Amino acid sequence: MPFTSPNPHIRRRGLMLILSSPSGAGKTTLTRNLLQDRTLDLTLSISVTTRGRRTSEADGVHYHFRTKQDFDRLRAQDDLLEWAEVHGNFYGTPRPPVEAVLSQGRDMLFDIDYQGTQQVLKKAAKDVVTIFILPPSMKELQARLDRRAEDAPDVIAKRLDNARHEISRWTMYDYVIVNEDIQRALEEIRAILMAERLKRSRAEQGIGAFVKGLLEEE
Ligand code: 5GP
Repeated sequence: MPFTSPNPHIRRRGLMLILSSPSGAGKTTLTRNLLQDRTLDLTLSISVTTRGRRTSEADGVHYHFRTKQDFDRLRAQDDLLEWAEVHGNFYGTPRPPVEAVLSQGRDMLFDIDYQGTQQVLKKAAKDVVTIFILPPSMKELQARLDRRAEDAPDVIAKRLDNARHEISRWTMYDYVIVNEDIQRALEEIRAILMAERLKRSRAEQGIGAFVKGLLEEE
């Protein structure tokens, strides 16, 4: 039985799982692990961005890399579920794939910042589960940014400064995880997902139909 339907008898609405964190808190590794776990059946929302591609990134896999002009067109067409400017670049979530996945009763994983999270919450709060990932220490955060070494020193300094602001927004999120040990953090996210999938409010109709069947049993 796939983990995605804790109970195969009960239909439910898909949910939007938003993982946010300051850069360097390990969110990318967590996301990769969650997506590789087929039993979770999570689909990644691939954002559109005007940021330049890093050498480790591929177009259409990590992001859809687009010009500012293309980005503005998507925005004007209302094709973005949310968008934000982060570190001087624009990022947005394409709407059609989200609608397609959720309507199948499957779940979508989002790697978006607090500005995007707020917009999605305004539009679809009932379908959203938010998790904030914290680094074990600021020292570790800096070390992770330095190790990545893909960004110039002034960019790293900007990201570190930004991290302090982002961390102070932890109260906006449903769950907060300290990513000291990746396996433990993954276990915690799996537990959150399992509980959220079982929530009555996500499967009100499905449970109603199941209960009706139960009560009509001879
Ligand atoms: P990076 O440039 O390091 O890949 O991402 C920088 C920040 O942009 C991260 O905090 C990430 O969560 C955020 N981000 C990525 N995609 C989106 C998006 O589609 N919408 C919003 N609001 N933020 C995004």
